[in-house]
Amino acid sequence: MIKTISYLGLGTMGGGMASNLLKAGYKLTVWNRNAEKCKPFARKGARVVESPADAVRDVDLVMYCLSNDQAVEEIVFGAKGILSGIKEGQIAIDMSTVLPATSLREQAAYAKRGVDFLDAPVFGSKQESADAKLWIMAAGNKAVFEKVKPILEHLGQTIHYFGKNGNAAAMKLVGNLIVALELEALGEGLVLAQKAGLDLNTVMEVVKVADFRSPLLVSNGQNILKRNFSPSFALKLMLKDAGLIEKLGESLESPIPALRVVKENLESAVALGFGKENASALIKALEKEAGVEVKAHGVD
Ligand code: NAP
Repeated sequence: MIKTISYLGLGTMGGGMASNLLKAGYKLTVWNRNAEKCKPFARKGARVVESPADAVRDVDLVMYCLSNDQAVEEIVFGAKGILSGIKEGQIAIDMSTVLPATSLREQAAYAKRGVDFLDAPVFGSKQESADAKLWIMAAGNKAVFEKVKPILEHLGQTIHYFGKNGNAAAMKLVGNLIVALELEALGEGLVLAQKAGLDLNTVMEVVKVADFRSPLLVSNGQNILKRNFSPSFALKLMLKDAGLIEKLGESLESPIPALRVVKENLESAVALGFGKENASALIKALEKEAGVEVKAHGVD
């Protein structure tokens, strides 16, 4: 039975998940590049270590959620990386959004050391991570999945098994293709509504109830009207994911014409300085082109 866990990468998503593992009573070790983020966990009883290699000593399971493929490359394969410390019989789970090819490379390297590996990226954002309400996908050996499922159940409201390694990473990109297009649709729709002189609160009332409604459109739409772009999912990460989706689409010769348009708008928004804001700040690139600012009456 798994009792000891290491969590690496205590950002927006990893921080929430690590907190929930502590709450669930696991003996937790944490590591983060910027050590400041470890302090609240140390106060709650987590062991803090100085490198990924140290983090994997004497634990049953190592989990990580890092920004991108490059970060995974450094933390898994780099000097003092996970692979330099991990031992046969341990389990590793990558919860980052990365290319399926990266997951497969991780799986092959872990397998050489007798370590089991799952790719298990997530849907949901800061709030869902904090509330243990993530939607989790996992791929890899089924018996290993069954073994770690009770742990994932402390982090998410649903857990879907996707078969062989790399498939959960691919599903994450499928989902984020839909998210990117929804955010673009919301941005274009609200700019058009503003230009047409519609009352934006009433527009959002319709978005909330009509047959095209979605929680993502509602929460992002309401925040745009309040001009609240504090990051739950940073725009620069959405751009990173658009690049991954493009690569996956190209490698499989699957058409992604709309995604290419969204990627250009994300690039414009980053060039305008909005990369650290929430992904919904994508609308700011459209607003600039349209010469309007979308906000509800009475919002300064
Ligand atoms: P975040 O808040 O920016 O956190 C990123 C984490 O990665 C931090 O712990 C950061 O360390 C670490 N990191 C980045 N580059 C590193 C490197 N070269 N070496 C070591 N550590 C490095 O990002 P997040 O929102 O939690 O996202 C994490 C992953 O989850 C991403 O793949 C993202 O696409 C995915 N995701 C995010 C959301 C969301 O809504 N936010 C939802 C689903 C999936 P420092 O603290 O030292 O910078």
